[in-house]
Amino acid sequence: MANPSLLILAGDGIGPEVMAEVKKIIGWYGTRGGVKFDVSEDLVGGCAYDKYGTPLHDDTMAKAQAVDAVLLGAVGGPKYDNLDFSVKPERGLLRLRKEMDLFSNLRPAQCFDALADFSSLKREIVAGLDIMIVRELTSGVYFGEPRGIFPDNEGGRVGINTQRYTTNEIRRVARSAFELARKRSGKVCSMEKANVMESGILWREEVQWVHDHEYPDVALSHMYADAGAMQLVRWPKQFDVIVTDNLFGDLLSDCAAMLTGSLGMLPSASLGAPMANGRPKALYEPVHGSAPDIAGQGKANPIATILSFAMALRYSFDLGTEAERLEKAVEKVLADGLRTADLMGPEGGKPVSTAEMGDAVVAALDASL
Ligand code: NAD
Repeated sequence: MANPSLLILAGDGIGPEVMAEVKKIIGWYGTRGGVKFDVSEDLVGGCAYDKYGTPLHDDTMAKAQAVDAVLLGAVGGPKYDNLDFSVKPERGLLRLRKEMDLFSNLRPAQCFDALADFSSLKREIVAGLDIMIVRELTSGVYFGEPRGIFPDNEGGRVGINTQRYTTNEIRRVARSAFELARKRSGKVCSMEKANVMESGILWREEVQWVHDHEYPDVALSHMYADAGAMQLVRWPKQFDVIVTDNLFGDLLSDCAAMLTGSLGMLPSASLGAPMANGRPKALYEPVHGSAPDIAGQGKANPIATILSFAMALRYSFDLGTEAERLEKAVEKVLADGLRTADLMGPEGGKPVSTAEMGDAVVAALDASL
């Protein structure tokens, strides 16, 4: 069987720096970890604009469609702030998400013990936290028509966006949440605003339908999204998998992410429909941006990107044991007190650069054999 294939799009700013550490880990899996990947690389974002005049070349898009998984660093930077909207670096990322039809965005909120004091919440509330927010990514109010700013009939203007969901859009993201729950602790909480929105009523009914017909073994609960936001900061450990729409998912996943401390720690996966080989279309990327303020200084924390690769091992390649090995290696270096600048709290630690953090994770992988 062919090796699993990866396309690396490191992007701009700290993207290439953090991705360099992931490449070390991919190399480790090839030589010592028993999984060889076929890796290709290309440009996305500002660097692609500089070379091709577009933030995502058609050839790059075609490569992304052909591989098993795409690993992305970050895009953007002040150099590109004044470009026309149509060629801004972010358009490259949006094109990937749209054309690969990545409708299910997975954002884990996991609190490593060694970093529990970084959270704005008390240690006992976040220590050991491990929840997964599944956000619908390709529909809802960010895409619904009509939209725009129009003159109203009182001499002013009216701004319009439309929340719109179909049965199929809700059911497919619900399935993705139920599948995840089966691999975790078997619990899904669906969040919407069925009390005030018709699209929320449909959301609740369709999620319930998928549960009743296809996943009766998973425990399903429903919660209004505003109550869900409160519960997330009150007692987040009550949740396992949360599934919600694009808008609420945007807010709730940022809120849940911050429970765990630094932006430099947060991975994500965006998944689409299964390809002919059964693997889902997939793009893995850290939640953070290109951090131009620290780019090129060896200060960036590579862990968010490393954990995104761990998600690729689990969700694209069904290598759960290897994903766990990598997550444990990250846990070990943190427990050993290694800290990039963003993780340096009042209790101190051993300051390390981006490359030293990557090397330490590789050493911990070695030690795990
Ligand atoms: P950002 O995430 O790049 O940075 C926010 C803050 O967090 C900065 O102080 C930065 O130094 C710090 N930070 C981020 N990642 C870090 C890491 N791995 N290690 C240590 N510190 C880290 O967000 P921003 O400053 O609002 O945006 C900068 C650029 O990135 C903009 O051009 C923006 O459009 C772009 N952006 C891209 C993405 C993406 O590629 N998915 C996401 C968000 C922002």
